[in-house]
Amino acid sequence: MDSNLIEKLKTQIKGDVLSDDLTLNLYSHDASLFEVKPQVVVNPKDTEDLKALVKFVSKNKKNNPSLSLTGRSAGTDMSGGSINDSIIVEFGRYFNHTPTINNNIATTQPGVFYRDFEKETLKQGLIFPSYPASREICAMGGIVNNNSGGEKSLEYGKTEQYVKRVKVVLSDGNEYELKPLSQEELNEKMKLKNFEGEIYGKMYKLITENYDEIQKAKPHVSKNSAGYYLWNVSKKEKRIFDLTKLFVGAQGTLGLVTEASIQLLPTKKYSEMMIVYLNDLSLLGKIINIVLPLKPESFETYDNHTLLLAIKFFTGFAKKLGTKNFITLAWQFLPDFLMLVSGGIPKLVLQVEFTSNQKHELNDKIARLKDNLKPFNLKVNIAPNKKAEKKYWLIRRESFNLLRHKVKDKHTAPFIDDFIVKPERLTEFLPKLNNILHKYPRLTYTLAGHLGDGNFHIIPLMKIEDPKQRQIIPTLAKEVYELVIKYKGSITAEHNDGLIRTPYLKQMFGEKIISLFEETKKIFDPQNIFNPRKKVFGDLDFAMNHIRQNW
Ligand SMILES: Cc1cc2nc3c(=O)[nH]c(=O)nc-3n(C[C@H](O)[C@H](O)[C@H](O)COP(=O)(O)OP(=O)(O)OC[C@H]3O[C@@H](n4cnc5c(N)ncnc54)[C@H](O)[C@@H]3O)c2cc1C
Repeated sequence: MDSNLIEKLKTQIKGDVLSDDLTLNLYSHDASLFEVKPQVVVNPKDTEDLKALVKFVSKNKKNNPSLSLTGRSAGTDMSGGSINDSIIVEFGRYFNHTPTINNNIATTQPGVFYRDFEKETLKQGLIFPSYPASREICAMGGIVNNNSGGEKSLEYGKTEQYVKRVKVVLSDGNEYELKPLSQEELNEKMKLKNFEGEIYGKMYKLITENYDEIQKAKPHVSKNSAGYYLWNVSKKEKRIFDLTKLFVGAQGTLGLVTEASIQLLPTKKYSEMMIVYLNDLSLLGKIINIVLPLKPESFETYDNHTLLLAIKFFTGFAKKLGTKNFITLAWQFLPDFLMLVSGGIPKLVLQVEFTSNQKHELNDKIARLKDNLKPFNLKVNIAPNKKAEKKYWLIRRESFNLLRHKVKDKHTAPFIDDFIVKPERLTEFLPKLNNILHKYPRLTYTLAGHLGDGNFHIIPLMKIEDPKQRQIIPTLAKEVYELVIKYKGSITAEHNDGLIRTPYLKQMFGEKIISLFEETKKIFDPQNIFNPRKKVFGDLDFAMNHIRQNW
């Protein structure tokens, strides 16, 4: 983008238009393993700025075909979703007004951090139950656009269930409100002789003409972030047509989200947590089958590498726990230290949490779980109080963050970081996954995840600057994704497609559905203005040529 064009852009935007080296370097990264330098970073001040931006790109695209707009809220995307090589549209600076809450619905701007959003909802005894483990560092725009999930998704499902309405700026440079429409309302929209009418008409045709195939393409897992969720837009039996469902999880490839209305749920009064220490991983399938019928709110896991890291960096946890008194914290970690010195670190720690408004219901479930696990002779532990529960949650939530910041001379390389396979298939699937991983004996990695959903986060630690190590990435990813697809899973349950997984979508969905995804993109964004190479028209070579060289 030449300097004249940047100067021209500055005259049309009230917010900041930045192209200094420091800013461009900062926005070359998200939490993925990629590095893509943008040409400009814009902090739009308001929706008028966004409209002007879209019109500017649309007008200049012919002479500058690489011009594009990539939305970014907090930039913690692990797939390379929030980086690109043209204009980054950063929402954190100005689109961060305090959310409003009415009748259990919160209306929020995209740049609001989840931690601030939750402060407002908790004031009313309400919660958005699909917050991710990155809850302290991510924002609502990323949660909506990635269809994020988290520890409570086992019971409550993902973001897609809670987004009731969005406001978006589309490729014609106008803002629209998307919400569920009745057949009569849809008919009115389709009569409009403008871009909105065109979109409704074309999307209605695409979805009705391919209805059965689209419904069949829905991944058979409890959580999915891959592809465009065409299967959610219209259900014949409900006679509702809802384009909101298409925008959730679309990674900003169809338009820029300026506002979202999100359903909230009442918080529950009580919780109890049981920790199960597991060494014989062949028991995992059986244990999952014992735990799930008791309907825990969350059922999480992390491995021995994660636990060792937590013990090593326990002072870092002290800060997060807000514990000034190190002795108190050391006391919390004492059992873990003892396990370490006695060589008794378990291969996997399983964390089962039950919640209820009735204390007796919790006691009953914990007692039944204890009884049912007795034949396996496992070490189990009931978290004695909220502080102890918090410690386990911190290890689980912060494991990836710890790796990113604390491990010297090796780097986190998320590329098989988020696959999901139905829990009942895990007994068969996991040994096959191990066989693949064993082919790379020098590869160290941590494993954590949402066990109840069969969703695993494997994060390899690599010397990323070594070309031999980099070569492993596409080969191992292909092997793992082929296995996941064979077991009818999804290559991403939460973290989305981005640069890393878009090239594998054809394997997962097949030619026909990919052609419908591409048609969808063309209907909304015929000039390919929004976040190119993500969701459709993926480019594995581009991705591999943009792996970070330096940290
Ligand atoms: C330590 C750690 C733990 C994580 N744990 C989880 C987890 O448990 N579950 C989970 O789902 N994810 C997890 N993630 C991934 C990530 O944090 C989440 O997906 C999060 O919701 C992204 O939010 P963000 O604001 O940082 O998004 P960003 O990185 O800013 O953006 C995410 C995507 O949304 C698009 N986008 C953002 N704002 C807009 C907008 N206004 N309009 C259009 N497009 C937009 C971007 O282009 C990008 O494609 C984790 C990441 C880290 C670093």
